Parts: sequence; structure tokens; C-alpha cells
Amino acid sequence: MFEFVYKMFGNGLAVIPKEGMQAIPNQLKSNLKNTHFKFNSPVKEVKDKRIILEDESILESNITIIATDASALISNLKNQETDWKSCNTLYFETKKRAINKPLIGLICDDNMLVNNIFYHTSVATLNKTGKELLSVTVVKRHQLNEKDLIDKVVEELHSKCNISDISFLKRYQIKKALPMLTNLQYEISSTETKLKSTIFLAGDQLLNGSLNAAMIAGERAAMGVIQTLEDGSITDELTSEYSS
Ligand SMILES: Cc1cc2nc3c(=O)[nH]c(=O)nc-3n(C[C@H](O)[C@H](O)[C@H](O)COP(=O)(O)OP(=O)(O)OC[C@H]3O[C@@H](n4cnc5c(N)ncnc54)[C@H](O)[C@@H]3O)c2cc1C
Repeated sequence: MFEFVYKMFGNGLAVIPKEGMQAIPNQLKSNLKNTHFKFNSPVKEVKDKRIILEDESILESNITIIATDASALISNLKNQETDWKSCNTLYFETKKRAINKPLIGLICDDNMLVNNIFYHTSVATLNKTGKELLSVTVVKRHQLNEKDLIDKVVEELHSKCNISDISFLKRYQIKKALPMLTNLQYEISSTETKLKSTIFLAGDQLLNGSLNAAMIAGERAAMGVIQTLEDGSITDELTSEYSS
């Protein structure tokens, strides 16, 4: 994983869209003209040709790609759950930046809670408030409630990073931040994404915890679906379903 991350920083710059990460799915979505999105619809179970939602409603499906950890969704994958690393990201507003260059500040002190800091306003951004946006990430486990966590982070920023005069904006607790993987991979074949002819798997947890991995796995799963449609078996089934 270190070699991969090191290679990525060697190949290009660390970047973030001007409108934030949400701009990436927005852009992908804007190119899909015939796709129907159903948001806020947690899935309980995926079966052959059926997706059962938490609210017990059922979606008919000829082929399903599960783009997340599938173990809880498919009965014969139980006990193969992915473990996850979690993190807390706290956002603050400040008047000025302690780091002027667009750099991620890594805090290499075992006794500190804060792991890294980044000023989003150090790169091109659509933020027009005139204030600086600071994100602070905590990866260490702790038992602090939100108030104590904020107080501790503010104190550490002051004592270690010389950052003061900040106001707290929002905290995100990301329980499934990155998959905890022992068998890291960079590639997967489209046939490996195929659980059965009606269910395919995708998601970064198949390879390594990164957007690259998520995109590679998604593309291979899509190729797997196309191959399955092209090889005819499922198409024959679909044709007979539609004609009947
Ligand atoms: C703070 C942070 C910073 C990161 N920075 C970087 C970075 O700089 N570069 C990089 O390459 N990677 C980074 N990553 C990792 C990157 O975000 C992930 O690797 C990537 O988002 C994984 O994409 P995915 O599509 O596999 O999974 P996700 O983006 O996690 O998508 C899975 C989706 O499935 C949904 N879902 C799960 N279960 C169900 C269910 N039962 N029913 C319905 N929906 C469900 C979830 O809600 C989620 O929307 C970062 C991650 C974090 C947390």
C-alpha cells in the first residue's frame, strides 16, 4: 500500500475538485442519461434477480452489481465480512493558514490524537467566504465524547501546530473509512468479480483501499456483466422472460 501511495504522489499531484469530492459522483451522474437512482434505500439482501430493501420492498433485477462489502447481503457469504478502519474528520474555519503551501501536515507524535491536517483553501476552491477551511483527521481510537474530542483537538492544534483562533464547523465520524485488508491487490479480472451469472461484486475492498481500486473493480464488474450478456446464457433467459 505504501508503494502504491508513494507511486501515486510521484506520478501526479494531490488534488481535490474545486467543489469538493461530491463533484466526482455528480460528474459521473450527469453523463448517465438512462439511469434511475434510488438514494437512501438501504439493501437488506441480494438474491437471484431480486434486491430486498430494508423496508421489505423488492426490486426486480436481471443482474446485480454489489459495489460494497457483500457479506451481509448474500446468505452464503456470511462470516466473510471485511473489517474496517474508522476515522473522525473535524472541520474548522480559520482566518489564516498555518501552512501556506498546499501540503498535508502529518503529525508524527504517538502521544497525539491528531494524525493529519489540511487546509482545503490552499488549493483552488469555490469557497467564497474569505475564510480558510481546515480539516483535521483523527485515526486513533478514543473514548471521548464530541465536546471533549473537539477540545482535545483544539488544544493539540494550538500546542503542536501553532494554530489558534479557530471555530469548529462539523464532525464526520466515518466508521467504514478504509477496508482492513491483508491480501492487497492492484488488479482483478472480470471473471473474478462474478459471484454467479446474476450477481457481480465491486468496491475497493476487493483490491485495496483507494479510489483507483474502486474504479478498477467497478470497471471489471461492468466488463463481466457485458461478457455474461454477450455469451448468451443470461440473454436467452431474459429473452424468454420478456417474450413470455
Ligand atoms: C477521509 C478519507 C479520505 C480518503 N482519501 C482518499 C484519497 O485521497 N485518495 C484515494 O484514492 N482514496 C481515498 N480514500 C478512500 C476512498 O474514499 C475509498 O477507497 C473509495 O471511496 C471506495 O469506493 P467504493 O465505491 O468501493 O466504496 P464507497 O465509496 O464506500 O461506496 C459504497 C457505498 O455503498 C453504500 N452501501 C453500503 N452498504 C449498503 C447497503 N446495505 N445498502 C445500500 N447501500 C449501501 C454506502 O452507503 C456507500 O455509499 C479516502 C477515504 C476516507 C474515508
